[in-house]
Amino acid sequence: MIFIKTVLITGASRGIGAKTAQAFAEEGYSVIINYNKSEKQAKALADELSKKYNTNCAPYKCDVSDSRAVAEMFEKVGFVDALVNNAGISEQKLFTDITDDDWRKMTAVNLDGVFYCCREALKGMIKRKSGSIINISSMWGEVGASCEVHYSASKSAVIGLTKALAKETALSNIRVNCIAPGVIATDMMKGFDEKTLKALAEETPLQRLGAPEDVANTAVFLASERAGFITGQVISVNGGFVI
Ligand code: NAP
Repeated sequence: MIFIKTVLITGASRGIGAKTAQAFAEEGYSVIINYNKSEKQAKALADELSKKYNTNCAPYKCDVSDSRAVAEMFEKVGFVDALVNNAGISEQKLFTDITDDDWRKMTAVNLDGVFYCCREALKGMIKRKSGSIINISSMWGEVGASCEVHYSASKSAVIGLTKALAKETALSNIRVNCIAPGVIATDMMKGFDEKTLKALAEETPLQRLGAPEDVANTAVFLASERAGFITGQVISVNGGFVI
């Protein structure tokens, strides 16, 4: 009998999440494509991947910063073999200009969302004594970015959450890892002009910006049996930007 694995990817309507959905579908997974606002893209992606890879891909609307909505999503979806916490927002601002609302919004999506999704996914994983969680942090969560203090803080917290949770769930045969991407060419980088993007590519030792696929392939590897002895780790996919 063939067991089809299921992965839930948050923020999979666009960017890194969408390419991660594609990479898992290619491996034969059923993919839950979580989205918040980009309904058209999420639905189109689910249709495209279901047809192309002959697998079951479904869109699911849920704001990951809403604890109740997340609980409802996991009740409906049921057991997931893998969870990729990818949904995230960013903002560039001087630290002294960050308002209470900016701070709360940033941590609500980037950190609370990871907490809520891990908590719900783990209910099934602990029962089955299997599962893999991959949290998408950032290299700025490792080393900090000027004018992105709230973003950096939320992404550092995701690294701390990953390490502590990996220790707590290892006895249940659940692995929890983190990916810390460098500069990846997605909508998130749209606020930067051409000159800045060129400078960022030049500052990257591998002399290019990352592609969403670079992160997606790492997520698929971490969810696989080939990564069966890897837990609590931060895998930097950054072209050497931070070493
Ligand atoms: P992106 O292109 O802006 O896409 C963000 C995704 O997150 C979208 O699918 C969006 O869905 C979803 N999202 C945002 N708020 C959400 C919410 N409240 N609930 C559910 N989904 C939500 O960004 P990206 O570059 O692919 O980034 C993906 C992850 O990688 C983020 O966690 C980001 O911090 C991290 N990262 C990115 C870079 C980079 O250079 N791009 C570098 C390091 C780390 P909707 O459009 O449907 O709302």
